[in-house]
Amino acid sequence: MRLGSSWGFCAIKMTDTDFPGIAKRRAEILGDLAAIAETPPMLVAVTKTQSDAALEEILAAGHRVFGENRVQEAFQHWETRRADYPDLELRLIGPLQSNKSEDAVNLFHVIETLDRPKLCRELAKAEQKSGLKRTYLIQVNTGEEPQKAGVAPRDVEALLRVAREQGLDVTGLMCIPPVDEPAGPHFALLAKIAKRLELPQLSMGMSADYDIATRFGATHVRVGSALFGPRDSSA
Ligand SMILES: *Cc1c(COP(=O)(O)O)cnc(C)c1O
Repeated sequence: MRLGSSWGFCAIKMTDTDFPGIAKRRAEILGDLAAIAETPPMLVAVTKTQSDAALEEILAAGHRVFGENRVQEAFQHWETRRADYPDLELRLIGPLQSNKSEDAVNLFHVIETLDRPKLCRELAKAEQKSGLKRTYLIQVNTGEEPQKAGVAPRDVEALLRVAREQGLDVTGLMCIPPVDEPAGPHFALLAKIAKRLELPQLSMGMSADYDIATRFGATHVRVGSALFGPRDSSA
């Protein structure tokens, strides 16, 4: 992660966040993405644990696409703000309990963490009840880590079938590679599965490796700490 370049930059401090210059960091990351790919991926700003000041700062910079890990925190961040920003796009990037499906469908435009048949059924019910149609990505556990959410690579096709039978609009795949392995092969695997299943969207790459993910064809990169600074909690 390249946090070094602007640490010494002493801009007028406009907010009380610990990491001044969110707009500047955002511009740098967008520049990185554009330098790598002719069609750069969408930058998803991951706002879990962030302060109101940080949210206001990045909104003021014109950013509108956000990722959140937890349904409840996402409501705290966005429930009132969404009325002021009709072009907001909210993406759930953390695990979803089926009993929170209705809340999730009500708030999020995109749910990136579809990973089991029961969740497909509950989300379909929530769509029917609310009259809202959302977009979904299947989370793939490319490293087949037991503690991690997501379906194994060999089970993606079966889950896609279930999701479509339920009427869910699945447009792509998402992954979080194991922390202790090079990410490239995981991104390559995700891209390969998506291609085979003719799914156009790939959500992959975080602060440490959004550049690599972009080289492997990411359509969405999920960036938190490189934009906002290190998080205090382990969330
Ligand atoms: C927290 C999180 C991110 C952002 O992580 P950074 O390393 O801070 O960029 C991206 N994706 C998921 C699923 C996350 O939970």
